[in-house]
Amino acid sequence: MAAKSLTVVVSQSPSKNPAKRHLEEELVAALMLDETVDVAVVPHLYNLDAGHSGTMFLQSMRGHLVVLSWMYPRAAHWLLDRAGIKGHQGETLLEDPDEDEDVEIPEPQGIGGVELPDRNVYCLDLGVDSDPQVFLEEISRIVGELTVETVETVELMDWISGSPEQGQLERYLDPLSVLTGESDVEPVKRRWYPVIDYERCTNCMECIDFCLFGVYGVDNFERILVEQQDNCKKGCPACSRVCPENAIVFPQHKEPAVAGALGDVGALKIDLSRLFGSTSGIDTAVAERDVELLRDGRDAVGADVGMPKRQADRDSTKRDDLDDLFDGLDAMNL
Ligand code: SF4
Ligand code: SF4
Repeated sequence: MAAKSLTVVVSQSPSKNPAKRHLEEELVAALMLDETVDVAVVPHLYNLDAGHSGTMFLQSMRGHLVVLSWMYPRAAHWLLDRAGIKGHQGETLLEDPDEDEDVEIPEPQGIGGVELPDRNVYCLDLGVDSDPQVFLEEISRIVGELTVETVETVELMDWISGSPEQGQLERYLDPLSVLTGESDVEPVKRRWYPVIDYERCTNCMECIDFCLFGVYGVDNFERILVEQQDNCKKGCPACSRVCPENAIVFPQHKEPAVAGALGDVGALKIDLSRLFGSTSGIDTAVAERDVELLRDGRDAVGADVGMPKRQADRDSTKRDDLDDLFDGLDAMNL
């Protein structure tokens, strides 16, 4: 197999939506004919746990990557980083038509990634357009961008074949069989956990104080880490409302601001709070956390535990009134 400068990975939609499947198939068919790239298909990235062969396949990859997924780019980038699939964020020219150009997005002030290899990872959101040509043209532009650099390419099969799980991993390079379900890729289950955008995270530790479910920890560099991903409560986005930097993303949440859109950060702080009759996103987060505590058979704690320090002086009413909480839940139809 000839060395290519770039591998394109298609991350399948978690749903069987025919329009999404069709776009994936069109892209894979076109990319397989493209002599400048290798192409692979994996199940939905967010659902891959550390032991899945799809994760191991991605970890074994060297060289630049383009990752096409049904997620906002920063959600995809940082969940890959958390899984050890690291690289510098490649800049894409694809724009999300839903993002408001007039909204000023604050410059990131975060601690950034660590131990990044010398390669780029370009994450493209498949949700921005239904026309495969849009993505193919962007990939072609990226290939052009990379070929003007001195790129140390590697034979794809060389490093795959160096792996003890060779047979398991090679199947991802037969993209059509993965797409059609003919490949015996092990199934994935739906998962729910936060992803930290380290470009925005300032390591303030507000989230680890706020979450009472043991999701967060710190790594060897004393940096905040989503340590126990599967301890997170399905559907709960509470800590994303507490983070002062909008650095916590839930890629599958229906609110764009929670799912990783950067254009409407303010919405994150006010949306559901209206349903609860509360005045801030913090109040909403407190209510959401209490719901999960009660579901676990624990006591609600309201605003008495783990409140963000920046909220210490606020004068709003504490959200420890369970009647208000359940009124809010009724309104949400939970
Ligand atoms: S609250 Fe946000 S900025 Fe602070 S450590 Fe957590 S993710 Fe980082
Ligand atoms: S969403 Fe809730 S359970 Fe999950 S990490 Fe955040 S605070 Fe913890």
